[in-house]
Amino acid sequence: MDAKTTILKGIQAKDEELSYIAKEIWDHPQVALQEDFAANLLAEKLAAAGFAISWGAGGMDTAFIAEWGAGAPIIGFLGEYDALPGLSQALSSERTPLETGGAGHGCGHNLFGTACMGAVLALKETLEQGGIPGTIRFYGCPAEETLVGKTFMARDGVFDDLSAAISWHPGDSNIAWNGSSLAMNSFKVNFHGVAAHAGGSPWLGRSALDGVMLMDAGVNYMREHVPPESRIHSVVTSGGQAPNVVPAFAQVWYFVRAPEREQVERMYQWMCDIAQGAALMSGTRHEIEFLTGCYNLLPNDVMSDLLYEKMAEVDDMAFSAQERDFAKALQATFPEGSVRRGFDWMRLSTSEELDAAAMGDPLWEGVFPHSPTPPLMGGSTEVADVSWIAPTGQISTTCWPLGTPGHSWQTVAASGSSIGAKGMLFAAKAMALAGYDLLTKPALLVAAKAEFTRARGDRRYNTPLPPAARPQ
Ligand SMILES: [Zn+2]
Repeated sequence: MDAKTTILKGIQAKDEELSYIAKEIWDHPQVALQEDFAANLLAEKLAAAGFAISWGAGGMDTAFIAEWGAGAPIIGFLGEYDALPGLSQALSSERTPLETGGAGHGCGHNLFGTACMGAVLALKETLEQGGIPGTIRFYGCPAEETLVGKTFMARDGVFDDLSAAISWHPGDSNIAWNGSSLAMNSFKVNFHGVAAHAGGSPWLGRSALDGVMLMDAGVNYMREHVPPESRIHSVVTSGGQAPNVVPAFAQVWYFVRAPEREQVERMYQWMCDIAQGAALMSGTRHEIEFLTGCYNLLPNDVMSDLLYEKMAEVDDMAFSAQERDFAKALQATFPEGSVRRGFDWMRLSTSEELDAAAMGDPLWEGVFPHSPTPPLMGGSTEVADVSWIAPTGQISTTCWPLGTPGHSWQTVAASGSSIGAKGMLFAAKAMALAGYDLLTKPALLVAAKAEFTRARGDRRYNTPLPPAARPQ
């Protein structure tokens, strides 16, 4: 049996076990930095297969690294497993929380970590049989949803010796990602004023809420003068408790995003100045709590092309009539325009001509070649931080109906269903095959590294985190 067949058979043989694990994690959704159920379950399986486990990278209890093999090259697989608050949902096409207010896998990370584990398990068996040198590493990355996990792990240097990194994300189509994402900073600004009776003696008070509102006004004036693709969004997490008390404390939480890391840094500095101005104007005092930040993705065509080629080799995705019915029923609950948006995104992402008639298909089984000029993602991911340290490739596979809104209860339902399990198995196969090629065809790594070096130019990964920042 050749290596490719061994890998594909190895993963297929694990179908039931991987689906069971993904469902177990789905059944025990835990939000960022609390994912001990998923982390323990995955680490246990990897340890049983002979991987050496080390815990606590980046100062996070639910982060771990599982390693097998020795020497170069070192291929890393990035797995995630955190859930989202408030999205608890049954396996149903109607909104039915399993636990009111509970968490749910609204980004499919129950599948995400499990597929990467499946890939490294099958790869290890094949390398062992063939006596092939090199190291494979599974990175158990917590807290992706808060953009904390990999940023703090990267600050610890755990990706520094990687030859290449492979990852994926559940999605609504089978395609390699070769576009970029937005860099970002997440921070809170606390304003401290002086409490006073708002009717009796307002002149004795200083409103912390005024500080927040003036800051927001300043930020909105800044918007005109930042790169057009930038995104600035905020929530007021504390604004006082009653109108008749001048608020002594108020807090606003910002995300600031832009296509390049240095643009985010400039905008962030400007926002720090605005905060200071707002404090002066309102007669309050302020401090900034830096939560986290991340880079923009540095795409690598060698890695994207390899992953595409592997998906095209696997190309065995097939959904049942029952799964299509469930997908259609879910689609019927999407906000208007969602399927169109999913289709338009796909059309921009692939070099293949897509017929609008294809929009009627709720589950896309085919593998699409990626466009040489992919669109820029409006969101952010800390996979991007790894992409500035080592050549990084990513794919999405069909785990959800076309147009499924991100971070929604519909995503939870699809990620817990057999649709999600099929997408997971498909991703595991393509990633394992790509890992095998990277370990056995030195020219591939040389090409990936050359492109990485060219694209990075004289820029170097420099953690966005201030030294005092801790994962929270
Ligand atoms: Zn996600």
